[in-house]
Formats: sequence, structure tokens, C-alpha cells
Amino acid sequence: MSKPLNEALNTLLTSADLPTLPVVASRLLELTAREDAAFADIAKLIAQDIALSAKILKVANSSFYNFPRQIASINQAVSLLGINAVRSLVLSFTFLSMGKVEENSLFNLERFWEHSLVGATAAQLIAAQVANANTDEIFTISLLQNIGQFIFALTVPSRYNQILERLATGGQDFNEIALEEEFLGLPHTISGFEVARFWGFPPTILAAIRYHHDPISYPGNDPQELLAIKVVYLADLITKIFSSETPERYHQQFHDEAEQLLGLGGLEINTILKTINREIANAAHFFDIPVNPLRSVAEIIQEANVRLSLLHLTYEEMNRELIQSKKELENLKKQLAERNYLLDTLANLDGLTEINNHRFFQNFLKAEIERAVNNRCPIALLLADIDHFKQFNDTYGHQTGDFILKELCRIAQGAIREYDVMARYGGEEFVFVLPETGSEEARLVAQRICRTIADHDFFDGKKHYQVSVSIGVVSAVPSTSTFDKNQFIAMADGALYAAKDRGRNQAILFNPEKMKL
Ligand code: GH3
Ligand code: MG
Ligand code: MG
Repeated sequence: MSKPLNEALNTLLTSADLPTLPVVASRLLELTAREDAAFADIAKLIAQDIALSAKILKVANSSFYNFPRQIASINQAVSLLGINAVRSLVLSFTFLSMGKVEENSLFNLERFWEHSLVGATAAQLIAAQVANANTDEIFTISLLQNIGQFIFALTVPSRYNQILERLATGGQDFNEIALEEEFLGLPHTISGFEVARFWGFPPTILAAIRYHHDPISYPGNDPQELLAIKVVYLADLITKIFSSETPERYHQQFHDEAEQLLGLGGLEINTILKTINREIANAAHFFDIPVNPLRSVAEIIQEANVRLSLLHLTYEEMNRELIQSKKELENLKKQLAERNYLLDTLANLDGLTEINNHRFFQNFLKAEIERAVNNRCPIALLLADIDHFKQFNDTYGHQTGDFILKELCRIAQGAIREYDVMARYGGEEFVFVLPETGSEEARLVAQRICRTIADHDFFDGKKHYQVSVSIGVVSAVPSTSTFDKNQFIAMADGALYAAKDRGRNQAILFNPEKMKL
């Protein structure tokens, strides 16, 4: 045994707070340890403690043992139940009435015994499913499995409080045994084992206390001891179904390990889990241990499963919702972009001719002037006006006039280059913006437009019409940002006026010397 462990143990065993075993219990342990122990001597010893005797007789006559005959005396109890069973009962009662923990201790004695009682009942039910198991003793063995914790609470209360505090806040995340080793220098399996050995407990109880957390580590070869250890270990899993926040985990573990360690099948396991609630209530009654009403294992597991599936469902639903709303948002964005595009387009289109409108023209011209300023390149503007259109309307009517406007737009657009832009300036006037186009080139484009329109046969299905336009042309290399857009348009207008003046159906280039603005 390592030194720190030894020291930690000494602290416990020499503690003034370590409870002394009541005389009857300790003498009984001495007596039963001897091979020649006589029933009569044992009965006589127990009978000395009247309260204890009454408790034993109560349990002996209860459905807990289910004896067909009334057991009237301790003598009879010893002979009918057996020395070991009676000794178990004495120890159980002794511990149930033993010790008081410090007032500020976080150790809840009632909860501890309640927990122990669930374990003891579980152990008895498990043992009942195993052939050759000594079920008489198993209850007490399991009841005392965690006596080491009780000892901690009595002898090193403040340090044990630290562990309880952590367990209370960290819950399932903490390993109880590891915390005990860290804070106290030894786990409750060893403290319980050593103190129980010191008190003279029988070997089976000692083995179960010592190895109930890890049956595999049992170094002995006593089949009854090993069986007790396994049963107590499995019973502990059942108590966790009742007390843990993840009962389904221990439920599964119990199923798996009950089969692995004891070869129990589904039927036996179900019997244990189905009857445990009733048996706990019975045992609580006979041993006078107050127990809070416990829900059935089936109920606990069903609830855990529902909670799990709800969790899962919620997550899935949330995911689905998120994906859905993301999709909707994307659709909305797309719709909005389409609508904006449409609105923009509509706002920039002329309703009748469906070519760019005046608003678009003004913006486009502004942008193109800026670009020309930056690139030091020329920009040209053509302003076209239909010749004698008023007369045309008056002769053929407005609808024919509208047809001419639309048809003119269609063919004029075909006469310009891809990067030139045509717009309806207003009424029967149209503009053409020709980026990077010098005066001469612009004049040629304008002439082409004039010719195209004049040569075109405007036919509305009924009549053929002849239409011509006059075009004012202006081109400049806007050198500074002070270049005036409206003045530029006025220049084109001046040139247009000159084209009209010179007889129409022609394109005239703006001449600053001859034309006034
Ligand atoms: P000029 O050769 O001097 O340009 O003579 P004009 O008759 O074309 O000029 P004026 O400005 O006197 O008349 C323009 C006419 O254009 C007046 C109007 O009835 C017509 N007009 C303007 N917008 C529309 C339109 O949207 N549809 C139709 N059908 N006619 C229009
Ligand atoms: Mg006009
Ligand atoms: Mg006109």
C-alpha cells in the first residue's frame, strides 16, 4: 500500500468521528466469524437489543422473506433464515441507525440510504435470477456497498464536501472515484473496505465493497464473492437509471453487462426492471427508510427516449427551418433583384417606342462625358427630329404617327453601332450618343441614319409612307470636368436647327463660329 493511501486511511481509522460499531453488531461479527457459532448464542446476543430484535422480526415476517409460517422469535429467525441472513439484517439496521453527519455537510444521509436501498433491492432481484446465488446476504452486501462514502462524510466532512460540491455542479461529468482519490487520497471502495475490515465484516461483504466499481479487478477466486461483486456492480447501474440525467445510457449498459457478466437474457432483465419499483417500496417499508416515490424504469426510459427524439426532432426541424428560410430569402432576393431590374428598365424605357427614354439618355450622356474626360477621347451627340411630323399626324392621324415613331426607332437602331445608344428625347425627337466618336465620323453616322430613314418604306399594312429626319451633330473631346452637358445638347440642337433651316433630311455638324447657342 502506498504511503499517501496509508496516511489517508490512518486519518479515517483513527478519527474520533469514526462510529464505533454497537456492541451487539460487533459481538455478532465476532461470533459468526467462528465456525462453531451456535444458533442459540447468536439469538441470545441479538435478543439483548429489543429494538433491533423487533426490527428483525418485522422483516423476517414480511413479504420480503415470504416465509409461509409466522416467525415468533429471534431464535426461530436464526434457524429459519440462517445465520448469514440474520447477521445481514443486524448490520443493515445497525448502519441505518448509525451516525449523524455534520450540519453543514452536503452529504444527505436520507438520500444516501434511499440510494443504497434501491441498490440493495436491485441486487436482490438480480441475484434471484442467478442460479446458486446467495440471495439472503446480497441485500445487505449491496446496502453497505457505499459505506465508504458515509465514512468520508463522518470523518473528513469538509474535504468530502468539496467533492460533493463538484458532483452537484458538474453532475455526470465527474468521475466520483477519481475525485475521491484526488481530494481524499483514496476512493470510497477502499475506505469502506478498510473500515469494514476493521469492524470485522465477513469476507463477502468486504469483497463487494472493495470491488463493486470494477468487478474485473477482483483478484480472488471465491465464486460467491465474485458473484456478489458482479451483482452489486450491476445493481449500481440500476440505481443510476433512477438517479442519472442520462438514464438510457445506464439502462443500455445494464442490459449489456448483465448479459456479459451473469449471462442474463432479456426476459430475466425485464423481470428485474419491472418488479423493482414494488420491491423498493416494500423494502423501504420494512427497513423504515423513507424513500421518495420513484417512477418505473419503463416510464423513465420512455421519457428519456421521447426527450432524445424531441431533441433530435427539434434539431432537425430547426435545420429544416433554417434551410427553408435561407431558400426563401434567396428567392426573395432574386425576385427583388428581378423586380428592381424591371423597375429600372421600365423607368428607363419609353412607353411607346420601347427604346431608352429621356431620363436614361441624360444619365448615360453624363456618364459617357465623364468617361471621355478621363480617357481624353471624343464623344459625339446627334439630335434627330422628324421632318414635318405635325403635318403627318394631321394627315394620317395620331395612330399612324405612333406607328411611324416605333418603326423609325426600329430601323434607326439598326443603323447605329453596337456601343452607340439611341433614346427618345421627347415627342418626335431622338438622340444618339456615340462614345469615342470624332466630328467627321459622327457626321457620317448621322448621314447614314438620315439615308436609312429616308430610304425606308414605312408600311403599316395599309399604306406606304415616306419619312425623313434632320439631324444636328456635335462632337467634342471634353477636356475638363467643367464641360457642360446641357451646352453640349444645345450645340446639337443648334446644328439641328441649321439642318432644318437648310432644307431638312440632312445631318449638319455644329460649327461654333456660325451657330449660336
Ligand atoms: P419640323 O420639321 O419643323 O420638325 O416640323 P414638325 O411638324 O415635325 O415640328 P413640330 O414641333 O411643329 O411638330 C411636332 C409634332 O410631333 C407635334 C406632335 O403632334 C407630334 N408628336 C410629338 N410626339 C408624338 C407622339 O408621341 N405621337 C404622335 N403621333 N405624334 C407626336
Ligand atoms: Mg420637333
Ligand atoms: Mg419635327
